[in-house]
Amino acid sequence: MYAFDYVRAGSIADAEATQVVNPEAKFLAGGQTLIPAMKQRLAKPPMLIGLKDVADLKGIHRAGTAFGIGAMATHQEVATNPDLRNACPALCHLAGEIADPAVRSRGTIGGSLANNDPAADYPAAILALGATIVTGRRKIPADDYFKGLFTTALDYGELITGVGFQLPEKAGYAKFAQRASRFALVGVFVAKFAGGVRVAVTGAGDSGVFRIPAMEAALAKDFSVAALAGITVSPAALLADLHAPADYRAALIPVMAERAVAMANG
Ligand SMILES: Cc1cc2nc3c(=O)[nH]c(=O)nc-3n(C[C@H](O)[C@H](O)[C@H](O)COP(=O)(O)OP(=O)(O)OC[C@H]3O[C@@H](n4cnc5c(N)ncnc54)[C@H](O)[C@@H]3O)c2cc1C
Repeated sequence: MYAFDYVRAGSIADAEATQVVNPEAKFLAGGQTLIPAMKQRLAKPPMLIGLKDVADLKGIHRAGTAFGIGAMATHQEVATNPDLRNACPALCHLAGEIADPAVRSRGTIGGSLANNDPAADYPAAILALGATIVTGRRKIPADDYFKGLFTTALDYGELITGVGFQLPEKAGYAKFAQRASRFALVGVFVAKFAGGVRVAVTGAGDSGVFRIPAMEAALAKDFSVAALAGITVSPAALLADLHAPADYRAALIPVMAERAVAMANG
């Protein structure tokens, strides 16, 4: 590790202002991605702006059918939040399946969404829930947020303050995990709303998280495992890496989608 400055932000405004005058600085959330990247010299920011004391980035709040999750909510906090567990247990299940207890106790939803690892779990939920990513400058609909591998709609230095979403009627998440890291080889989140169904896949797309319109249309007519029969996914635009070839991921997607629907239906 090389030398760098560390500044502990006290508020959202403080974090943003510090970043503006230190444009090469990076925000530090749970450090579960950024610190290993710095140790490997894949990132070399001259300054880290610590977010852990910023109270306005914390917490999970419900207002009627709307939920807001602060950017600094850890995976463990999302996994165990009682309100969320009652209202959208699939999201708690997803957070509880991330990595291991050590990573879950420090890693945050904001850090995960800013990083947008193609095998991360949250992007599937955020896209399927049609959530909104809230930053210090604007609100970005999930459909406009995920731009590719490790690429998002965030401008350089833009701070995620939280995410918001409307509760679905039903939701489910199923992941086939890479054994060592628990990252998704394929993860499918299914969310049923009064106006339709959204199905999002993480871990498999060569451009990151994506939706499957054919499954969404079939499930909108009949929200059952049987409705997915015969719907396949082409391996053409899927990831192939040392963990799995594209056709293996293609075969896993319908299986995970069926499991997600089964979970949603209890
Ligand atoms: C061993 C291991 C296994 C893992 N397994 C999984 C897994 O199974 N599933 C999964 O989804 N993830 C997994 N992860 C990743 C983990 O979830 C990380 O917590 C997450 O990717 C990054 O969150 P963080 O809070 O640690 O962010 P950091 O590492 O602190 O930051 C990551 C990036 O996001 C930026 N950033 C952080 N917060 C903000 C913000 N509020 N606004 C704007 N930019 C911000 C930082 O500047 C940095 O560029 C794993 C990580 C490890 C080390």
